[in-house]
Amino acid sequence: MDVIVVGGGVVGLNIALSLQAQGQTITLIERERNRTSASYGNAGHIAIEQVEPLASMAMIRSAPGRLYPKGALALPLSAIAHWLPFSLRLLHAAKASRFAAGKAALSAVVAQAMPAWHRRMANIGATDLLRTDGHYIVWESAESARKGRAAWTAADTGTAIFHDATEAELRELSSITSTPVHGAIRFENTGQIIDNRRLLEALEAAFVARGGVIITADVANITDGNAPQVRLSSGDVVPARKVVVAAGVWSKALLEPLGVTIPIIAERGYHIQSPVHKWPKGLPPVVFEDRSMIVTGFEGGLRAASFVELGHVSGPPDRSKWTRLRRHVSELGLPFTNLSSADEWYGARPTLPDYLPAIGRLTPEGNVWYAFGHQHLGLTLAAITGEMAADMLSGTPAPTAFSLKRFQ
Ligand SMILES: Cc1cc2nc3c(=O)[nH]c(=O)nc-3n(C[C@H](O)[C@H](O)[C@H](O)COP(=O)(O)OP(=O)(O)OC[C@H]3O[C@@H](n4cnc5c(N)ncnc54)[C@H](O)[C@@H]3O)c2cc1C
Repeated sequence: MDVIVVGGGVVGLNIALSLQAQGQTITLIERERNRTSASYGNAGHIAIEQVEPLASMAMIRSAPGRLYPKGALALPLSAIAHWLPFSLRLLHAAKASRFAAGKAALSAVVAQAMPAWHRRMANIGATDLLRTDGHYIVWESAESARKGRAAWTAADTGTAIFHDATEAELRELSSITSTPVHGAIRFENTGQIIDNRRLLEALEAAFVARGGVIITADVANITDGNAPQVRLSSGDVVPARKVVVAAGVWSKALLEPLGVTIPIIAERGYHIQSPVHKWPKGLPPVVFEDRSMIVTGFEGGLRAASFVELGHVSGPPDRSKWTRLRRHVSELGLPFTNLSSADEWYGARPTLPDYLPAIGRLTPEGNVWYAFGHQHLGLTLAAITGEMAADMLSGTPAPTAFSLKRFQ
């Protein structure tokens, strides 16, 4: 085969499809048949408004006020060995000059995210999976509405535009919550994936229908060189001409033995989801900004997601986060049914300290490439990352801002 893609999350699947479209023979190696990673558990929001890297002085200044349990940012003591060095690197990355360079690089790809998703959905015959009619941001007090609206008005939102919610829109929002809505804005051209599970299945089905091979197996390690090899945990070795590592937060374990430093952290989030609910059909995602919670109506159920818990990918979940989500939902009176038996999920955003992805080639002479570290924007950027990876393997380098060299 020509190329092995390691990792079949939303990023790896898009890379596999884009490479396949160039006429290459592709094998995707993914250990899970039914994905449980962030590619499944995310909030489904195509966030083209988020063009500023989260590693900023504003984010650092606001951190104390956002700490759990008051806010959504959790720094568990048990994970201090992970988040302390990460935070020191983040402080460095937030310096004005690095922030400005990061913002230029990130906003350029975010600007291409929605067109790339349109191309991808058309390409796999699944245009119904993408809606592009925006999302709401809601505030629960006059004070937070004033501050929140001012912050969004001052922010750079790239190609995304918003307006103050109209009377009709406020009425629609009031119909889903029993607490007063003191203010809201409506983004007009951001997006939503109708169902994450169906998206992953549709991407995979298109890949297989076009001759792609999926091996369900755990990759133990990779060698680089003229003839790279992917060794499975079973001991089997799969040879290829080229390898692309797109294994989310697990990419570190596969790539660091090849001589790079990857200061990635598992930025863990949680969701609850009720299959039965009364969310109005057609209502886009709603962010309850005072609670740092986003609620999305998917085909498979109504989902409330939140929390940024800096830790280790394989640590046990903190059950209090699901309790907190349930409390938010009940306090807001949101139309979840059987809240006590809602599905519970947690998973890791793959996040680097400057909140930029890692997309590039490991060494100029080698045959291993990488695309991971998409933090809060992995769903948003998956389709454009696929296109960039295909260009990269045919000789057009990715932006240097995304190279792993920045951490060496
Ligand atoms: C609560 C929450 C809400 C979010 N909401 C949004 C949102 O609304 N919009 C947005 O754009 N982003 C959102 N994100 C971020 C987004 O989900 C991630 O950035 C994205 O899913 C990363 O995709 P990925 O394919 O790189 O990694 P993953 O989804 O982690 O996939 C990696 C895959 O690689 C496989 N793998 C790993 N190691 C190996 C190995 N050794 N062998 C074989 N297979 C392996 C794993 O099984 C996995 O399937 C959210 C994240 C969270 C946690």
